[in-house]
Amino acid sequence: MTILHSPGRPACDDAGVNQTHSETRRTKIVATVGPASWDPPVLEQMIIAGVDVFRLNFSHGDGPTHVRVIKDIREISERLDLEVGILGDLPGPKLRVGDYPQGVVDIVHGSTVTITPDDVPGTETLIPVDWPELSGSLKVEDTVYLADGSIRLRVIGNDGRVVQCEVEVGGPLSSHKGMNLPGVEAGLDSVSEDDLRWVEFAVANQIDYLAVSFVRKADDLDPVLDKLSELKSDIPIIAKIEKPQAADAVEDIVEKATGGIMVARGDLGIEVPLSKVPVLQKSLIRAAGQAGKTVITATQMLASMVSAKRPTRAEVTDVATAIYDGTDAIMLSEETAVGDYPVEAVKVMDQIARGTETDLPYWDWVLNRVRQDEMDVSDSVTQSAVIAAYRLNLQAIVVPTASGRTAKVVAAHRPQVPVLAVTHSVRTQRQLKLIFGVRPVVNDQTTEIRNLLYECADDAVTYGAAASGDLIAIVAGLSDMQLGTNLFEVHRVP
Ligand code: ATP
Ligand code: MG
Ligand code: MG
Repeated sequence: MTILHSPGRPACDDAGVNQTHSETRRTKIVATVGPASWDPPVLEQMIIAGVDVFRLNFSHGDGPTHVRVIKDIREISERLDLEVGILGDLPGPKLRVGDYPQGVVDIVHGSTVTITPDDVPGTETLIPVDWPELSGSLKVEDTVYLADGSIRLRVIGNDGRVVQCEVEVGGPLSSHKGMNLPGVEAGLDSVSEDDLRWVEFAVANQIDYLAVSFVRKADDLDPVLDKLSELKSDIPIIAKIEKPQAADAVEDIVEKATGGIMVARGDLGIEVPLSKVPVLQKSLIRAAGQAGKTVITATQMLASMVSAKRPTRAEVTDVATAIYDGTDAIMLSEETAVGDYPVEAVKVMDQIARGTETDLPYWDWVLNRVRQDEMDVSDSVTQSAVIAAYRLNLQAIVVPTASGRTAKVVAAHRPQVPVLAVTHSVRTQRQLKLIFGVRPVVNDQTTEIRNLLYECADDAVTYGAAASGDLIAIVAGLSDMQLGTNLFEVHRVP
């Protein structure tokens, strides 16, 4: 398939003239908010540059700061009339260093450092980690990684309270950077009381997605799912795959993770040999696709842009590879949380996505991406619609949807034409911002079927997805049938 339909505004040119808009891009962009991006003017520029979903990392920053950021994001997106989703990332059982009040320090190669369980300010040589089992768990010759593996220490002494290490690979360290001990069971609960308080926070602040960190098996999601049901909330949860055990159990995890999975390459790349990361990335994205679930690819995608205005060729290729692999969304972490060029990083992702999207294996995807055995009514009806979109050269697939479910099932088959998801719920609109190829809009619709079909056609024209005389598909689920998505109509726009 080489025909590309891209209605709406033109793409941004290479000089970076900002005519970009997430409406014509299929791959979604997730950007982490931090000190480099939480000022409203920066958030605004990032939304204009194409952020679809903002990620708040609850491991960093306090509640009031996150509340302020959420309020600012909602205000700005309402003013710009560009809705975005918000994803809250639960800390999970991650060991982290304590406070570095003076900001960033340099952990020097060859020096000796002390890891202490005491609550003291961190320095170049004293690294606080709030973990009572520290000295009981580490022995001489063990390897300790800090800050997504960028710093490597070797244990040379343990006096039963503090642990002495030699710095084998040095680097910058700052507050609350992670500590990884591959092969050491840290004995921490997969979901802590603190995580559950953040679940309450997410519900109270109407966050659109929750990510669960360091999932090992499907059941690790239960405490969060139980808490949500206790709070009568249906926030979709995304399982972060960053442990080898999780990669082995990905089918079960994908089934249970209501919002999909994240290929969290930062910790994954420490927990498994680095050379396994590309293979795992492909198999995890494939597993999500087979189950028709959403997948985000994360960490270090444009890492050099933390301090440089242009990415490396290798990073550009990495982002494109994730898109070729079939990811729904590509994510920025440090680049937008603490980097010097948060807006440029979003623009670069936008450019790479648009460039790559002209060359994706859409036809192969519609035939094979979602598991072909045991298809239910929804899978089968939506796949037929997407196949028809190619055969009949339809301009768009319009999906009236309350919960967003039908739009997600259609998108799982990866149509090349836009999926215009029309919903009455702004919450559904925000959640659908994460889904490849889906353009969610809010518009009240009637429930009477004939009128509904005509209104969908009107919507296609209103939002520039199709013109009078074009053929479009309309895909929907009639709730009284209890069959999921059971309706597919080819419609000539009047
Ligand atoms: P995770 O394993 O959950 O990704 P992380 O420590 O790698 O944890 P990221 O969300 O990837 O954190 O963000 C990258 C870095 O940006 C963090 O390590 C931290 O230094 C900084 N950062 C992110 N969010 C904030 C925040 N709200 N306040 C301060 N610094 C932040
Ligand atoms: Mg990270
Ligand atoms: Mg992580």
